Amino acid sequence: MDDQNPESDSALKVNSGIDQPPSVDPKAAQHFIRKRKSLLPATEYVNGILAGNRTILSRAITLIESQRADHATIAQDIITACLPYSGKSIRIGITGVPGVGKSSFIEVLGKRLTSQGKKIAVLAIDPSSERSKGSILGDKTRMEQLSNDPGAFIRPSPAAGTLGGVARKTRETMILCEAAGFNLIFIETVGVGQSETAVHSMVDFFLLLMLAGAGDELQGIKRGIMEMADTIAITKADGENTRSADLACMDYRNALHLFPPPESGWLPKVIPVSARENRGMDTLLDLFSEYFGHVNSNGFLEKRRMEQARHWMYTTIQEKLLDGFYRNPVISRQIKEVENSVMEGRITSFQGAVNLIDEYHKAEQENKDSDKVLP
Ligand code: GDP
Repeated sequence: MDDQNPESDSALKVNSGIDQPPSVDPKAAQHFIRKRKSLLPATEYVNGILAGNRTILSRAITLIESQRADHATIAQDIITACLPYSGKSIRIGITGVPGVGKSSFIEVLGKRLTSQGKKIAVLAIDPSSERSKGSILGDKTRMEQLSNDPGAFIRPSPAAGTLGGVARKTRETMILCEAAGFNLIFIETVGVGQSETAVHSMVDFFLLLMLAGAGDELQGIKRGIMEMADTIAITKADGENTRSADLACMDYRNALHLFPPPESGWLPKVIPVSARENRGMDTLLDLFSEYFGHVNSNGFLEKRRMEQARHWMYTTIQEKLLDGFYRNPVISRQIKEVENSVMEGRITSFQGAVNLIDEYHKAEQENKDSDKVLP
């Protein structure tokens, strides 16, 4: 500006200087806008989700994950409104130890599906994510191609809470994704703990990924997990691994024969796969079709989903009751002392538990009474 000014070379020249800071901190303003934005009425979230709007879907999922009571209320309204539009997707659970190749596999399979015009959502259950700051799907480098694919929606594991809480939130997220029109929902978990059972109780098809040449103990896979599998895929079946992967397939097929026949009437399959060489993906997609044809016609799919819905009702009751109990201020004040008394043998475990439960009921009753007195 000064260049065009004839006085710009004069001693009275005014340098442009640095920009003055705005009177409102832009970060605070952004935060304010975000905060205001997050408080849409439930119907707007629902309409956005049904229209397939991913930004709205993500924000609704954030409400499901939130610890705030007002968020929980609106989240439940959204889920209830979405429920009639859910249930039409294929729900696939995928588990395997870290390093088995889950994310590489999901990336290749996912790309294959989106190239066929399918819309897929990838969710995760990782109860350790609070401590490890998200070991599943949290790392941006995982599934890089899929995360840039307009046909795919990837959401990391909810971070906070117990396994039950994390799993419930993922199940609720799945309902929203289904209402948003995703054809396949993948739920990934690390095969190291109880989370496989949680995933198994919310999917139609359970896929176990295993490595060739590593003993079952090494892979941390318990017999119970193998029994849950509808298919076992031996990963990294390429290069010099090819032969050992094929041998492992035979071993697992033999092992599966020893298990009692599953209620679905579907005999679990074992196949070699390679994300690197794109091997086994079509076989797996054919298996999906075969499996869903089978369980649709014999009524097992409907039965499994009904039983899962019932299971989640009871799981949620337990979770909510326990949560209310441990969050009660009277209990948090007294529990350590009672615990010490039990450990030192002054009272029995049973007495300790019953005393605390009595205190909890008393505190709840007093709360209710004081609510009544208030205007
Ligand atoms: P995750 O921890 O189970 O998600 O496993 P990743 O997908 O991150 O894979 C772990 C490692 O195995 C990485 O170094 C991958 O490059 C490698 N890997 C994954 N898939 C294949 C495959 O199909 N073949 C081979 N040879 N290596 C693979």
